Amino acid sequence: MKKRQVIEAYKEKFGGDFRLFSAPGRINIIGEHTDYNEGFVMPAAIDKKIWVAITPVRGSAVTVYSVDYDQISTFDIQGPIPELPHWALYSYGVVKELQNKGGKPGAFNAVFGGDIPDGAGLSSSAAIECAFGTALNSLFDLGMDKLEIAKVGQLAEHNYAGVRCGLMDQFASMHGKAGHVIRLDCRSLEYEYAPLNLNGYEFILADTRVKHSLASTEYNKRRESCEEGVLLIGSKMPGVKSLRDLRPKDIYPFKGMLGEETFLCCEFVTEENERVLETVTALENGDLEKVGGLINASHRGLRDKYMVSCSELDLLVDTALTVEGVLGSRMMGGGFGGCTITLLKSTSVDQFVKTTQAAFQIAYSSDPVFYRVTIGDGAGEEIVD
Ligand code: ADP
Ligand code: MG
Repeated sequence: MKKRQVIEAYKEKFGGDFRLFSAPGRINIIGEHTDYNEGFVMPAAIDKKIWVAITPVRGSAVTVYSVDYDQISTFDIQGPIPELPHWALYSYGVVKELQNKGGKPGAFNAVFGGDIPDGAGLSSSAAIECAFGTALNSLFDLGMDKLEIAKVGQLAEHNYAGVRCGLMDQFASMHGKAGHVIRLDCRSLEYEYAPLNLNGYEFILADTRVKHSLASTEYNKRRESCEEGVLLIGSKMPGVKSLRDLRPKDIYPFKGMLGEETFLCCEFVTEENERVLETVTALENGDLEKVGGLINASHRGLRDKYMVSCSELDLLVDTALTVEGVLGSRMMGGGFGGCTITLLKSTSVDQFVKTTQAAFQIAYSSDPVFYRVTIGDGAGEEIVD
């Protein structure tokens, strides 16, 4: 188990006393690419995590060891920006963003590792940021609340990993609650927990294990398209500050002005926001057929309008929908690889795995990886046992 491995690695590399913190990855039931448009999302933390074993040290030299890469990295918290391996950018970014906020984190020795498949759209990157943010907040009495830590993580992602992500991933990693989804309004940051009672149904993830290299550049491009749309529409409709302010019907008159690509992006986001609100109601009513239909519509929008899917994801979704007992399936996360999320009868899981695996094997000569989802708690300190 990864937690154990992190603990043992700490003892071996550094020895002595340490504290242990963790932060989870997340799923998102619906509301994709809406967070950075001040829209609605419905994430939940999962039982896959990043663990950080950590101790403060004197001076300004930080040493971090990655269990999963079996590499060590050092940086000086007062020094110039160092050359770092990718995996170390997240902890370094968190330190820097804490400093930018006026916090005074000290130096530390840390070992980290986890069981969130990376690049799968389950936000392993946000989990690293939130685990280190939570650890440093506690170790150095920085007095931050969960939301502030989430925002520090988001800034680390923007400024050090180069992905201009919204706040959903870090928010979910910090605020997760076992057995509950989070209904989050990304404008006001108001949120509610809703118990997820699926009565014989469940969510399963199918990981393509591909991540096409254009993922992060295309992500930033979509964000720019949305901003361009808002700017153009806002010039005609004063008061429009984000796509959150618009319903699908509001943007049709601007189709010519926006151009096809930007229009489709804006249309998708406005429709996706409506789907999240409809999903809230459908879940409250226990209408899982309706939830499934909304999930399917989300995938079609991501594929045909937002254009962030890829053939591997589409194949998994299309195949899933041929399986008896599947109510809905869509790509999850930024796109261009990673996982699909599928709502299905628990008794259909075996058939789902068999069918999608066979189709994927024929098309790509490789196997997807499947994860049954358990919804867990957000970031925090753990007992070293
Ligand atoms: P996602 O957040 O969807 O998992 P990203 O591309 O945003 O994918 O983040 C993946 C990156 O996070 C990896 O390239 C690596 O740098 C870092 N990472 C993820 N998990 C680990 C881990 N267990 N150990 C070290 N670095 C990790
Ligand atoms: Mg990420």
